[in-house]
Amino acid sequence: MDRESPIHRKKKPSSKSKASSRSNHKHKYEPCILKYLQYSWGERCQICGRIRYKPGHRSDLLRPECRGKPYVWIGDYLSIREMKEKYPGIRVFDWEYTKSGVVHKEILE
Ligand SMILES: [Zn+2]
Repeated sequence: MDRESPIHRKKKPSSKSKASSRSNHKHKYEPCILKYLQYSWGERCQICGRIRYKPGHRSDLLRPECRGKPYVWIGDYLSIREMKEKYPGIRVFDWEYTKSGVVHKEILE
């Protein structure tokens, strides 16, 4: 009668959730500019540095004379220095897809 069946072993309720994932916080996004083939708006988490692309209008990153063009290329955009003058405090990131995921590097200019 004193046999303990392993089947009846209760799983301990996980009182503490393991902090194994880094995204344990609520991301706190701030706007940034991403450079990937062209420039676009993105958002970057101030806590973990996670970056996500933010679809939408990017015409405000274009040089004034290039706005409204049906097709634009990277040369139609403001220079990084001009973007930073226009949006003080904005950070610009080079953003690239690689085999190991998205890599981003801040462009300091
Ligand atoms: Zn985060």
